[in-house]
Amino acid sequence: MNNIREQIKNKKRIVIKIGSSSLQHAETGDLDYIRLEKLVRELCDISNQGKEVVLVTSGAIAVGKKAVNLKTIEGKTQAEAMAVKQACSAIGQARLMMAYQKLFAEYNQTAAQILLTKDTMINDSSRYNAQNTFDELLNLGAIPIVNENDTIATYEIEFGDNDTLSAVVAALIKADLLILLSDIDGLFTDDPHNNPDASFIDVVESLDDHLLAMGKGSTGSNVGTGGMATKLSAAKVATAAGADMVIANGADFHIIHKIMQGRNHGTLFLSNQKDEFYLIDYLDKLKYQ
Ligand code: GLU
Repeated sequence: MNNIREQIKNKKRIVIKIGSSSLQHAETGDLDYIRLEKLVRELCDISNQGKEVVLVTSGAIAVGKKAVNLKTIEGKTQAEAMAVKQACSAIGQARLMMAYQKLFAEYNQTAAQILLTKDTMINDSSRYNAQNTFDELLNLGAIPIVNENDTIATYEIEFGDNDTLSAVVAALIKADLLILLSDIDGLFTDDPHNNPDASFIDVVESLDDHLLAMGKGSTGSNVGTGGMATKLSAAKVATAAGADMVIANGADFHIIHKIMQGRNHGTLFLSNQKDEFYLIDYLDKLKYQ
């Protein structure tokens, strides 16, 4: 088993996804700068090891909501609520990037922003452009910071959760590792919030329907949008595209270097590269969801 974990040390192109709940103080909803700083230091250190790293970060809507003192996102109609959400994301995304840029600059690290939508990914030429931009940024030694472009994505065309988005990014740039950091330790045989007998799963060699069904109905935090079900479907995409994936607890971002050192943290999903996996087919199915 340890040999499997040891192989993580050799990963070269890594996507790391952070949920909104990992970036905020639970009590106030304000950004937790100490944790953000730890995260940035961990990412810079991976980059200093000569590896390529991409950050997929949530938090735009939550940060924007806080900036304009909204408790909930509401509107008289669905369209109005969407406009409030999109305005919050426009405010919050800029604030979030400002915090990231400042911290990355302290470590002399160049960061870049990439905002994607389902549409950009479905469209052949914009997907191709995005892929080239990622490649070039990584060539230049920059760390791309990715989020969904919530300001223009509406219900019909949004990914809606950054678990899915990070798996799509991992597949697009042919990453060899995706790390999803959340407020759960990894995958359990049942929902540990409700069942004290649920046991932890260390390694998943292949994601079968039984495992996928286990994610249904499980709870997560109420800050971000992804629960266990979206994490498992992200695992399906990432592993089929040729990346290993780890789901781990982002309560302490030092877990990132521990995972990278091959230590036993989180649940490891082994890559199961499918010859017949085409990102475009997957995106095509998403189009109608
Ligand atoms: N893109 C959303 C944001 O930045 C978050 C989506 C998610 O939580 O997965 O607020």
